Amino acid sequence: MIELTFPDNSVREFEPGVSGADVAASISKSLSKKAVAVAINGELADLSDPITANASIEILTREDPRALDLIRHDAAHVMAQAVQELWPGTQVTIGPVIENGFYYDFKRVHPDTREDWPFTPDDLPVIEKKMHEVIQRNAPFTKELWTREKARDVFADMGEGYKVELVDAIPEDQELRIYRQGDWFDLCRGPHMDSTGRIGSAFKLMKVAGAYWRGDSTKPMLTRIYGTAWANDKQLNNYLHMLEEAEKRDHRKLGREMDLFHFQEEGPGVVFWHSKGWTLFQSLVSYMRRRLEGDYQEVNAPQVLSTSLWEISGHWGWYKENMFAVHGADPEDEDSHVFALKPMNCPGHVQIFKHGLKSYRDLPLRMAEFGIVHRYEPSGAMHGLMRVRGFTQDDAHVFCTEQQMADECLKINDLILSVYEHFGFEEIVVKLSTRPEKRVGSDALWDHAEKVMGEVLKQIEEQSGGRVKTDILPGEGAFYGPKFEYTLKDAIGREWQCGTTQVDFNLPERFGAFYVDNNGEKKTPVMIHRAICGSMERFLGILIENYAGHFPLWLAPLQVVVATITSEADDYGREVAEKLKAAGLKVETDFRNEKINYKVREHSLAKVPAIVVCGMREAEEKTVNIRRLGSKDQVSIGLEQAIAAFVDEATPPDRRITKD
Ligand SMILES: [Zn+2]
Ligand SMILES: [Zn+2]
Repeated sequence: MIELTFPDNSVREFEPGVSGADVAASISKSLSKKAVAVAINGELADLSDPITANASIEILTREDPRALDLIRHDAAHVMAQAVQELWPGTQVTIGPVIENGFYYDFKRVHPDTREDWPFTPDDLPVIEKKMHEVIQRNAPFTKELWTREKARDVFADMGEGYKVELVDAIPEDQELRIYRQGDWFDLCRGPHMDSTGRIGSAFKLMKVAGAYWRGDSTKPMLTRIYGTAWANDKQLNNYLHMLEEAEKRDHRKLGREMDLFHFQEEGPGVVFWHSKGWTLFQSLVSYMRRRLEGDYQEVNAPQVLSTSLWEISGHWGWYKENMFAVHGADPEDEDSHVFALKPMNCPGHVQIFKHGLKSYRDLPLRMAEFGIVHRYEPSGAMHGLMRVRGFTQDDAHVFCTEQQMADECLKINDLILSVYEHFGFEEIVVKLSTRPEKRVGSDALWDHAEKVMGEVLKQIEEQSGGRVKTDILPGEGAFYGPKFEYTLKDAIGREWQCGTTQVDFNLPERFGAFYVDNNGEKKTPVMIHRAICGSMERFLGILIENYAGHFPLWLAPLQVVVATITSEADDYGREVAEKLKAAGLKVETDFRNEKINYKVREHSLAKVPAIVVCGMREAEEKTVNIRRLGSKDQVSIGLEQAIAAFVDEATPPDRRITKD
């Protein structure tokens, strides 16, 4: 007999070879009906797989979040079947699950011309309809183990040349699994749910794209069909709505409409900040700088440094393909020496730390820099402000003793959470990544650091009052130490990893940095790398999308436009604008000879938070008529009252005195 342990820790004995389906049936009829797959020792498996040894077991129903990947993978198989039923002779290649959905790559040739016949968006509704039909048939998914020879022969007979290549690429020691649904089958690792009917109807085919076989541009071009699939219609509709919102909020589009920045061909991955965008950028920097006051010293290390330094830091060895090399332009120069643009600020900060003898009394020493770094990203990976080649980090390094490590991590955590709160991010996830396989430092050092950080993680969750969720990612740490990663959720539910706190045992030692401890002995300091926004460019991209361009007044690059109804009110308009400026607000005037509604529409499109309208009546009464972005209401109030209200609203959250 074997012992199976259930999620409630109860243990029951079964005959060896029992399947998940048998176990479910032994528990209850309703579970047996609802079961779609099983998790054995945490690994998803087919309901029909025999269990031969003691294990922990969970029966999965369709509602389990882990079943979502199965729904998607099953949908991919059904899509491939639908395509082959509709267009016999189309070759199927690979079809994995991806974030929010799945895809499958196909090779279709036209039956008459025998020429390539890529799929188009018009094909998608037809395929979808066929998929619903296949799902209705509710055929069971069954698994077969084939020999390599059989698989090769069968797929070759079917004209599935790509499949033959895939069979050949599977290592000899791996078994070759075929999953069958009705009379359609595919080479697949699995697992799958028990039948196609389980997929349901909450799926949609999204788009087609060209994709090279094996991602290799010398190989044939295939058509990739993308789909999304969910457990129910509500989830699907939420997702489709989120996509629609994301498109409306796209920071590249808003950046254009708000005249914030642009990119151009000659500067791939580097930003041309326009005046308003740069004002926004500087507001963010000023805010961050105020948050560092009293705790951090701000420094600035060079952009271009000799490769000899990057060799010591190790970057030239393991990060070289991400770096820009720099050398003199004159090829005749005998003295030419290779430099690199800094991809990170850390080595520069260690140089500053090393200047002057440091004692334990100087620690913790917190060094911050709004450092511009350059990383050579592949051109296909770049995406607006979200992924660039040149960016500014709100970077800092804390040099401290091992005993100070926990307190410093907590202090950084407090700062990170408070910053995110000021920008309106309520839901935060903090993940602790622990030792990876390839690493530096002794096991004792890792044991110690992971223990400390594990305790810190607990405290973070406890102190947050439910705002922060935590998680542990085993093996995901940096090679030089464990790290915390901060992920925030934006207004439409997307997650962005921004902040990070990384403990480093390696870099100070490489550069021979030390402090003198209280026994007069040289000690290597622990170095904590930390960033809050991460890349300021990317963080601004996230903010633009999170606020949909509707920045709170304190952050808006242009806060108020004073617009007149008639040229006779221009003098008063000028007076209003001057007073607002004198109160510290960012103001522009619009005295053009245009209809007021035209002016309001234009500034609303540019997402100006407030438009102050002045006509003759306002001039006589010393009032203003205020229209706020996103509101149809107009408010008429006295000028002085309006100024006071704007000044109050434009006070950054860190300068606000809370009145409770
Ligand atoms: Zn598969
Ligand atoms: Zn660093």
